[in-house]
Order: sequence, then C-alpha cells, then structure tokens
Amino acid sequence: MRRYDPAELEPRWVERWEREGLYLASESPADDRPRFYALDMFPYPSGDLHMGHAEAFSGGDAVARFAAMRGANVLHPIGWDAFGLPAENAAIKRGVAPEGWTYANIEQQARSFRRMGMSFDWTRRLQTCDPEYYRWTQWLFVKLFERGLAFRKQSPVNWCPKDATVLANEQVVQGACERCGTVVERRDLTQWFFKITDYAQRLLDDMDDLVDWPERVVAMQRNWIGRSEGAEVTFVVDGAGDEVPVFTTRPDTLWGVTFFVFAVEHPLVPKLAELGGSWSEVRPLLERARATPLTAREEADTKEGVPLGVFAVNPVNGEKVPCYVAPYVLMEYGTGAIMAVPAHDERDFAFAREHDLPVRVVIQPEGEAPLDGDTMPEAYAGEGVMVSSGPFDGQRTPESIAKVAAWLEDQGRGRATVTYRLRDWLISRQRYWGAPIPIVHCADCGEIAVPEDQLPVELPEDVDFRPGGESPLARHPTWKQTTCPTCGKDATRDTDTMDTFVDSSWYYFRYCSPGYEDGPFRPEDVERWMPVSQYTGGVEHAILHLLYSRFFTKVLFDMGLVSFTEPFPRLMNQGQVIYGGASMSKSKGNVVEPMPVVERWGADTMRLMMLFAGPFEDDIDWKLIAGDPDKRPGVSGWLGRVFAIVGDAAERDAGDPDRLVRLTHRTIAGVTEDMERFRYHTAISKLQVLSNAMREALEGGAGARGAAEALVQMLAPLAPFVSEELWRVALGHPESVHVSRWPGFDPEMARQERVTLVVQVDGKVRDRVEVEADADEESCRGLALASPNARRAIGDREVRTIVVRPPKLVNVVTVR
Ligand SMILES: [Zn+2]
Ligand SMILES: [Zn+2]
Repeated sequence: MRRYDPAELEPRWVERWEREGLYLASESPADDRPRFYALDMFPYPSGDLHMGHAEAFSGGDAVARFAAMRGANVLHPIGWDAFGLPAENAAIKRGVAPEGWTYANIEQQARSFRRMGMSFDWTRRLQTCDPEYYRWTQWLFVKLFERGLAFRKQSPVNWCPKDATVLANEQVVQGACERCGTVVERRDLTQWFFKITDYAQRLLDDMDDLVDWPERVVAMQRNWIGRSEGAEVTFVVDGAGDEVPVFTTRPDTLWGVTFFVFAVEHPLVPKLAELGGSWSEVRPLLERARATPLTAREEADTKEGVPLGVFAVNPVNGEKVPCYVAPYVLMEYGTGAIMAVPAHDERDFAFAREHDLPVRVVIQPEGEAPLDGDTMPEAYAGEGVMVSSGPFDGQRTPESIAKVAAWLEDQGRGRATVTYRLRDWLISRQRYWGAPIPIVHCADCGEIAVPEDQLPVELPEDVDFRPGGESPLARHPTWKQTTCPTCGKDATRDTDTMDTFVDSSWYYFRYCSPGYEDGPFRPEDVERWMPVSQYTGGVEHAILHLLYSRFFTKVLFDMGLVSFTEPFPRLMNQGQVIYGGASMSKSKGNVVEPMPVVERWGADTMRLMMLFAGPFEDDIDWKLIAGDPDKRPGVSGWLGRVFAIVGDAAERDAGDPDRLVRLTHRTIAGVTEDMERFRYHTAISKLQVLSNAMREALEGGAGARGAAEALVQMLAPLAPFVSEELWRVALGHPESVHVSRWPGFDPEMARQERVTLVVQVDGKVRDRVEVEADADEESCRGLALASPNARRAIGDREVRTIVVRPPKLVNVVTVR
C-alpha cells in the first residue's frame, strides 16, 4: 500500500471529477430523485479565500455531499458578489480599474475553491458585475419602480467623507463608517429608496415559515422590524392651532403628560420658536444637531433641550403643557414629536428632572407602596392600575391600553395604530462600481424607467472613478447624455449606482436558470429548485441580506413570478474563525491564510481542522486548533492512519468480527444523526473510534472490510479526496464514493451492547447489573454503589477502597 500523499492524490481527483461531471445538477425530466438546493452565501472577491471562507464552505460542501449520498439531485452553485466599495477603493489605491482587480480576485478564488475540491456545479457560475447579470438587477429595479416600490426623496443621510458616499444606517458603527472607520457626517440628499416598509408586517408574519433558523437570527430580524402597537393621539398647539399627531405605545399614560417635545428637524419648530419668542435659543441647537451624524443622534443626551415658549393641549383633559425642542426625539421615528410622560418613561424622566418639570404618577404598580412623582428615583415603565386618569381610574394594563385607544377613536381624539422601527431601504450610492440605476430624468416627463430592451445600462469604462462627492458617472463627459424614452427630447441618465445588497438579494434565483435570456430566471426552473433546501453562511448577514432577500422574494411573489414567499426556510450560521481570541485583521497582524495550509497538508486536512474544531455554529480560534504551523495537524495524522487501515482491510479476506459489525452499525446511526444536525465534530470523533476498532480487529487477525466501506462513505462529505482514493483505488469500486448510497444501519445491531457487571463486596458476589459495553469507571462505580444488595452487604461499615474494572467488575472493599 502506498503512503498517504494528499499533494499527489488531491489534484488528480479534482481533474477527474470535473471530467466526469460529477457535480452537475440534473435538469433531466426523467430524473426522479428529490431535488436538494444547497446554497452557500456567495463570497466577496476581496483577495484570495480567507479562513472564514474555508470554514463556511467546508460545512456547506458537507451539506451538499451528504444530500447527494442520501439520494438527492443536488444543486450546489457558486458565484461572486462582485460589485462594491472595497473593489473600487483597492482599484483607486492601485490606480487600476475596479473591473480588472475584481475579476483577477475571482479567478484566484475560483482556483482555490477547485483546489479545495468544492462540489460546485461550475456551469452555473455568476458574477454580479457581469453585464448579463446586472441587466436583470436593473430589470428588477424597473419592476419595483413600476410598482411604486422604488422612489426618490430628499432625506438626511449618513455621509462618509473618506469613501465619499452615502451609508445606510446599518453601515454606520458607533458614528463611524463600517468600512473605513471615518466619522460619519450628515447630509441632505435626494436618494433612491426601496419601500420595504410596505412589507414590514408580512416580513414579521412569514417568520412562521422559517422552519429551521437560529433563534437569535429570528430575534434580530424581529427586533429590526420593531413592530409596536399603540395609539396615535393629536395634540393642538395653543394659539397657533397646528395639529400635531404623536404615536405612543402607552395611551393609558396620557393623563400623566406634563410636557411635549419636538425633534429638531420637525418642520413646525422654526414657526413655533418665532411665535414663542425663543428663536435665539432654538437656532444654535438646530445648527448643532445638523452637524451631528444621524446615528450619533440615537444616543443623544436626554438632558439637552430648549423650551419653545408655546403650549400644547392634551386632548384627554384639555391641559396645556409646555413644548420643548430636544435632540433625543428623532424625526425618523414615529411622527417627530412626542408626548412626554416622565413618571413612566425613562428618557422623559431624565429630561423632566433636568428641567424641573412636574412628574405625575398615573400608573400604580399593584401590591407595592404608592409611587410619588416628587421623590421617585426613576421612571416606572411597568404595568399597573391607572390613577388620576379621569374616567379610567382603576383600569389595569394591558386591557387599559386597548380601552383608552378605543375611547380616543370614539371621541375623535386619536386612533389605535401600529408602527414599525424598520425604515425604507436607501439603495443609491454615489460610486462607480455598481449597477447603474436604470432611470432617465426628463425635464418634461420626470423620472422614466429605461425600457426593458435597452437594458443593461452599462457602466462606461473610461471613467475617473476617484471619489469626489458626486457619482463618477456624473463626471463622465458623455455617458449621462441620452434621450427621453417617452418624448424623445434630450434627457440625462441617473448617475447613481445601486447598493450591492440589491445584487445579492436575488442571486440564488439566477442560479436556477443560468444564461436565461428572457428574464432574471425561468419561473419553471425556480419552481423546481426552490425554496432553497439549506442556506449556509455567516451571522454577519443575519439582518440585512436576509431581510432584503425575503423582501425581494415577496415582491416576486406579488408579481406572480414565484409561488412561495420565503426563499430560505432553513438557515445555518457557522461561527467565525478568530485568532488568539480576537478577530483576524491585517492591522492586528494575526491573519492566517487557508491556502498555504491546503498546499502543505492537503484540502482534506484543512476541512477536517475546521469541522473538528467544535460545533459548526461556534467560533473557531485558529491559534488553539492549529498551534505550531510546522507541526503536522492531528487530523492529518489520523487521515494517514485511516489510509493505512483501510488499505490493510481491503487486502484481508476474513470477515469483520461481531463486535466490529455492531460498532459499525452504531457508528452509522450516530454519524447520520450528527450530519443532519451539523454536528461534524462529533461525527469525526465517532469515525475515529471506529477506525481504532478496525485497527484492533486487524491486529487480532480478523477482517474489517465491512467497517472500511462504511467508514470511507461516512468520511466522504467531510474529507472528499482521501475517501474517493480509498473507495475507488483501495476498495476497488468503479464509481465515485460521492454518488454511492449513504450506508444504512440495522437499529437492532446499532443498539448499545449490554454486558453484565458483577458487583462484589469484600470479594463476595452481591449483585449482577446490566451495563452498556462501553460504560466507564465512573458509571460502573455509581451503579455498584446504587445496588440495594451491595448496600445491604456494606451495612454501616466504612468503605476503604473501590476496585473498578469496567465494564465487568466492581469490588467494594470495606474497613473491617
Ligand atoms: Zn468610509
Ligand atoms: Zn420626456
């Protein structure tokens, strides 16, 4: 038998698999296997593959291979999320076009994926920056535009001065740009939005169809959408007559309102400040707020604020309360004005204490000492009984909330309503490397969608793409000049490009119909393959990518193009690969690349290192699992032993001993269950136990061929190369292990073997107990001491020592 040599055998199999077309999804109508769509979150081509890719795709590939061996017709595609800022910034730094840099990286990653032996159907490969792809991204934009779901509005936006582009709120982390760390500014710009807020309730309701998602991801989505029920109540500004609606989740606290607060951007503020004679105090506050990034505003100091000098009338009791303008109230949430109830809201409370405003208790917690507004140290936001609330005294939460809301509606002073935290999706970017927004601006006709037969609107190549405030496309001498598709007069193209999250919101549909010319996908193809059977990827996409993809799928459903509303009913998030307890980053100098490990020890070893490190969803600390980079990894040593053991087993004529047969069945049962639950690390442990038992059997002169066949098959989804070599070469099968049928087991044989444990006290047999054959010392001792016969024999004597020989004998020795 030859030695285990991954550097020789792995490239050989890559070539052979490709030649045999082993991983092509079958579209044959005669193929009646169940379909399985194994989808990995597609990579961003920022360089060669990194450790995170190596981990994610090792797991995703195991999913696809396991499904295939269980008899499915598997679709396992690959593509690249290839537009976006990093490519553009890298290109600017190097003085080359983003296109060249991007495609070079894609080729590099594709080579590395091939070297790792990923079971991709390469015929479906796509890149979002290909004109043939973004043609359909633009087509989808047009469809959203036609349905009123894409629209322009002026709005305050987060602006990164370094990247010279708008950032979504989610791309701002603690007031700084997520990509470059520059402090974000605030600007008012006219921007394109997708009206995802129209789908807020459906995005919540359809979560019932997410049959297998990590709970924390569901919770994050729910929280992001942020539904709250309550009431809209209208206050009137005394003297001015303006009606100002406010939203509250606690209409039962209306009688506790002691002041009223406007957001600094509220359109009424200048007028009311003028009326109240407070403009000289209000104006500096407005100017300061305007210079503050939007996201920093969310953590605004609750104590800052200025009285407007006017009063608002509380519709429930006619009371006049003073109006303030304060940064802690945000224009983007609710109506941009709030009724302040300091006794029952923390932020209002802090503001009231700072400004010496009255605190009036209107909810008393039950069974506790009554609250006193003058002395309470903090707001009470809990449930309780309404007091000092006119006709509602004595009502209890939560029923009181609905009762007050209904009463407001009856009285014409408000109505029950629902609000969401979710904002519309800002999709325009003033950058070059993205899909151009397919809109023409005409002086007479307004915003006109580019007709379908003129798509794609292609990116020009000769562009000065350095950042400069406006889109580089706007600076091109001729690109934006065009004619209006409606009236034929001179018009200009929209010069913004789309957020890359638009590209990644529909790529999984395109995989079903690669190269399709008449639409983004052929609906029949999508019906055959989708929804996705298993989606695998990082938790960093737990909110945006998944939310946007779910939104797109619902829009396609409404357009009648698909028959389902959730694209990914099953989602698995792998953990991150970190180093020494910290995330890997160039600045920390702790980046480890996967491909050198693959070159040195083999792709199978790389995969097993990732999958053996622990539960798939947990973070992997590479420093802990890899240790000395020059030392042979433990899993590599094990693969070498498996290589030798299976080779020996293949040459032995004797049958497997009964014990080994039973262990084989038990291992198949356990590993099958582990694979279904992404428990790759425990699957590998079980395979190691089996390989040790095989070695023992072989050394005792017995055979192990049955065990070898099963072991190689179970290893195949995890270490595809060595298992293929052993299956075809050592064990002599003509066909690939990857199309072999996953081994079955006999539940009777898989049952844990039982043996008799003899319990002695001072050398005399006192009991016999049934135990599992692999019972350890601890459990044998426990069982012996729990035996009533043994305890009777011990009596009240002191136990001196307990001799345990698992699983056969326990002898309790007493002091005599
Ligand atoms: Zn930036
Ligand atoms: Zn026109």
